[in-house]
Amino acid sequence: MAKIAMKTPLVEMDGDEMTRVLWSKIKEFLITPYVDLKTEYYDLGLENRDRTDDKVTEESALAAKRLGVAVKCATITPNVQRMSEYRLKKMWKSPNGTIRRILDGTVFRAPILCKGIRSYVPSWKKPIVLARHAYGDVYSAVDEYAAAGSKAYLLIEDAHGNVVSKKNIHDFTCGGVVQGMHNSDDSVRSFAHSCFRYALDMKLPMIFATKDTISKVYDGRFKAIFEEVYKEYESAFAAAGIDYLYTLIDDAVARIVRSEGGILWACKNYDGDVMSDMVATAYGSLGMMTSVLVSPDGKYEYEAAHGTVTRHYYKYLKGEETSTNSVATIFAWTGALRKRGELDGLLELVAFADKLEEATRRTIEEGEMTGDLIPLFSREGVVPKKCNSENFLRAIAKRM
Ligand code: NAP
Ligand code: MG
Repeated sequence: MAKIAMKTPLVEMDGDEMTRVLWSKIKEFLITPYVDLKTEYYDLGLENRDRTDDKVTEESALAAKRLGVAVKCATITPNVQRMSEYRLKKMWKSPNGTIRRILDGTVFRAPILCKGIRSYVPSWKKPIVLARHAYGDVYSAVDEYAAAGSKAYLLIEDAHGNVVSKKNIHDFTCGGVVQGMHNSDDSVRSFAHSCFRYALDMKLPMIFATKDTISKVYDGRFKAIFEEVYKEYESAFAAAGIDYLYTLIDDAVARIVRSEGGILWACKNYDGDVMSDMVATAYGSLGMMTSVLVSPDGKYEYEAAHGTVTRHYYKYLKGEETSTNSVATIFAWTGALRKRGELDGLLELVAFADKLEEATRRTIEEGEMTGDLIPLFSREGVVPKKCNSENFLRAIAKRM
């Protein structure tokens, strides 16, 4: 067959460690034999970030803004230990943080479901996609210890320094703690647009929840902005046959647990932090969780939710065999290729993405999988067989 042609290039962001090893093999075995792959390549491997004073991360994010679709490999976020391991000039910031800041996006995490891999919640038959607002709240709060006898206030000054409001938080008869946090209308509005846009894209009904009965002004503001933004999407939702529900966070948790999945769950920052770990665990392995960053103006960056799988990489460096799950990284590629195909009107490219996903699922469903999935797998008549990292990709290629 002739290779499938592309029009606009994808932004390709290469990364680190075990996922970097898988990255080139995925392209070699599963993509370039079929697609005349066009990418604008950025090497976000830690060595190159250090060499370019992290300029490469910013350039790649700007490229994603320009071209609209990016696919990213997992990358190391440097800490003290990495500083010495890679002899870094500086403790560079998290690349995902930089990209998110430039695209002003929201992260959506969705599990990949296969027959034979059961969720810990038996009623969850379809994916629950979780959207986490990634700005403000407790993550950029200030807090302080207050000694016995002190008084704490919430104080707001206008642009000229005049006091607009001063509220007593607490008079401390014994010592205690106090915290101040914020959010901004712009950020909440962007979050709402990204969520409604993604729900429409994926034809998923959507739930958003806060605790506005308690946090009347703070959470009330989130609720009101979502209501206002939803007006722009209401008729498109009706046409797509999906709905939007606002409810209290406790009620949302109960509804999600009782549901069969197939829902987009939009969460405030803290709720999203906690609930995304619950949802990911319930669906099985980190190797089966995808992640996409969607900006409010419709730019997309696809990646796996997991990290660079360092422990496996050190084994790989010693020449030992590894069995690292490449499914989430493969689905990052298919997500990006499908979106590129949709935007450029290339039906063949969209169909290719569907076929690669199907071949990947069937490989697992027919019993060939990496070690992380073996304890989760049970399907009548199928004895699961553990593949090493490369043989798993070959098993998919065989089905392609
Ligand atoms: P991790 O790479 O996600 O791996 C944690 C553990 O989860 C692994 O040791 C492995 O367990 C299991 N695991 C994760 N992905 C797997 C896969 N695809 N196949 C099989 N097992 C998988 O998290 P980490 O070890 O905390 O972080 C490593 C590096 O990744 C850090 O430098 C961190 O900064 C970076 N990171 C990057 C991103 C990103 O780029 N989006 C996200 C998170 C972390 P076993 O060892 O038990 O097999
Ligand atoms: Mg968390």
